Amino acid sequence: MGTHFLPSFWDICAESKKISLSQASLLSSPIEYLKGVGPLRADLLKKELEIYTFGDLLQHFPHRHIDKTKLHTISSINPDQDYIHVKGVLQGVEMIGERRAKRMVAQLRDETGQLELAWFQGINWVQKNLVEGQLYLVFGRVSFFNGRAQIVHPEIEPYVAMTQGQKSLLEPVYSSTEKLKARGLNGKQIGKLTQTLFQQISERDLPENLPIALLTNRLSRWEAFRQVHFPTSATLYKKALDRLIFEELFIAQLRIHLIKIQRHKNSKGHLFEKVGDHFNEFYNQYLPFELTGAQKRVFKEIRVDTAKGKQMNRLLQGDVGSGKTMVALLSMLLAADNGFQSCIMAPTEILAQQHYASLSDLLKSMPLEIALLTGSTKVAERRRILKGLADDTIHFVVGTHAIIEEVVQFKNLGLAVIDEQHRFGVAQRAQLWKKAVIPPHVLVMTATPIPRTLAMTAYGDLDYSVMDELPPGRQAIKTVHRYETTRANVMDFVKTEIMKGRQAYYVYPLIEESEKMSYEDLMQGYEQVKSHFPEPKYKISMVHGRQKSVEKQTNMKRFVSGDTQILVGTTVIEVGVNVPNASVMVIESSEKFGLSQLHQLRGRVGRGSEQSYCILLSSVKASREAKERLKIMCSTTDGFVIAEKDLELRGPGDIDGTRQSGALNFKLANIINDRANLELAKEAAASISEKDPTLSLPEHQSTKLFLQTQKNKIGWGKIA
Ligand code: ADP
Ligand code: MG
Repeated sequence: MGTHFLPSFWDICAESKKISLSQASLLSSPIEYLKGVGPLRADLLKKELEIYTFGDLLQHFPHRHIDKTKLHTISSINPDQDYIHVKGVLQGVEMIGERRAKRMVAQLRDETGQLELAWFQGINWVQKNLVEGQLYLVFGRVSFFNGRAQIVHPEIEPYVAMTQGQKSLLEPVYSSTEKLKARGLNGKQIGKLTQTLFQQISERDLPENLPIALLTNRLSRWEAFRQVHFPTSATLYKKALDRLIFEELFIAQLRIHLIKIQRHKNSKGHLFEKVGDHFNEFYNQYLPFELTGAQKRVFKEIRVDTAKGKQMNRLLQGDVGSGKTMVALLSMLLAADNGFQSCIMAPTEILAQQHYASLSDLLKSMPLEIALLTGSTKVAERRRILKGLADDTIHFVVGTHAIIEEVVQFKNLGLAVIDEQHRFGVAQRAQLWKKAVIPPHVLVMTATPIPRTLAMTAYGDLDYSVMDELPPGRQAIKTVHRYETTRANVMDFVKTEIMKGRQAYYVYPLIEESEKMSYEDLMQGYEQVKSHFPEPKYKISMVHGRQKSVEKQTNMKRFVSGDTQILVGTTVIEVGVNVPNASVMVIESSEKFGLSQLHQLRGRVGRGSEQSYCILLSSVKASREAKERLKIMCSTTDGFVIAEKDLELRGPGDIDGTRQSGALNFKLANIINDRANLELAKEAAASISEKDPTLSLPEHQSTKLFLQTQKNKIGWGKIA
């Protein structure tokens, strides 16, 4: 994020562009030129595995190795084992079951017993390729079915005894696809190609890219690549993997650090030198509460940042309800004290209105002009605002993306606050920059917690603040998990809350807004709620993605104003909407939501002084993993804890807001399992980039050259 506007890192490499890149040329040869490939297979390798060049094949790493000396015997299989590896004779291949339960089963027999193999898919392949009575090598995850060991969809191949003089006992296993297999490129054959490749290349083709100081105790790059594919021992394989993982993390971290240093060096920013009257008056007279420690700390960080004459580009992560708006307001007052205007952008009209209402209220006795500009601002009012922004009689403007339209011109925009950033695209943010010669300081606020490890990797080039403290006196939301069979009781409970004058949310998982099924579920749910809460005694409004935006807003507003007691809706229920009187949220089919999403939704309650509740309804049949997620939700309200768990359960590729992050697409590294390496890589990258930010020292030339050859492979624009 933000990197879109930054001076390219490559500018700092400009002076060395004369260095020839031909070094890497053999590895950039098209894959069809490798012996044994040819145009047809090449096409498939490209389509199926994105292998275009020799180098790509080299980076198609084996996902495991078979140690032919270490096979299990069938009788030794027990339920504690996860994956097993056995050799045996195939027998009794037969089709059993009907329709959906139809499957192919076979028995694998060794001297000690027999094991069942089963296929639900790819039955044709099994029929065509497997031969009874032959010896096979089988790998897979064992499960126990009626007390009998079974492997569903095993990896299976004819057993070939080791030849004498074969050096490696560890045979690589590569992933392949059905289409490739049909063209004679199964995992084993891909391994053959890799072997051919290694016969053609030499150490020169895989030059070292780590500074020498980092090579103590690490294999060289060339050795590491060889050992990862064709290890001569388990220990060397481990070392090779470790080296390549470290390299991957180090290079990524180094890039981030260099870009950040470059940005700090180059970007001119407005100077907020002093804290003045506006800030002091507000702070001493109108601040309605004591700031939390986290709010004070983050404001101080912003204060330091904006006093440097460099542009601030800061991401503020704060859990739902941690009070980010106040930090934004204090920063805006700081801007005003230094003669600058500020804007705050929200992703939706309702959020903008809420911000406007609460800021106007806080500032009502201050000599500052604040305006609201959204898509529905009336023409005359709009004209007045545009004029006020152009001549600096309006100091603060709150709005939606209407603020970034071409016609909106500021006299001197000093600070842009972007709330709930994940809904703003990079392009929209770019618009803001265009508004001035010197770009405004940017404060992006988000309530989607991202685990720290991840944030440092994904957003490492941004300045980053965390608010991990809630204002005092909040009551923790009570969260429980109930099965749908007890829905009637849940509704009765909601009723008692409504009788006390509170309001309630009913959320349905419409993940795809267009999905017909879930839309019907929603309508059914709405009817169900209605029959439990009959009009006119109860009033219900509903919001969903199929409504026109005006309709959605009207319904939303009725709930915000307390006109309706129940809001039935999908996840379009606005992020950040503040209805302190709402004390219950019921989430239907909660097993279908991810942890972060549940956390965001839950953040809509617990915003007042009353005890709030979140009830997670699920089917009894929800998967074990889903139940695990719900258990986590019931046990904590800490967004950062939840984000960590989410990362553990789902892996890094899936976390909200980072999904597109190129910085997380590692081939080998996994930032959860490789945390220790990540730390090492971070430290090394930080110290090198600090000491030699242009990578000019002789010992950094190999690294610099490598970064240059990689130049076109990184989608920096994607980091958002
Ligand atoms: P978020 O970080 O989710 O955007 P808000 O800025 O909307 O949170 O703040 C949530 C609520 O907490 C608001 O009603 C706000 O007035 C209140 N609040 C913020 N800071 C404090 C504080 N230091 N002490 C007490 N209440 C606070
Ligand atoms: Mg907010």
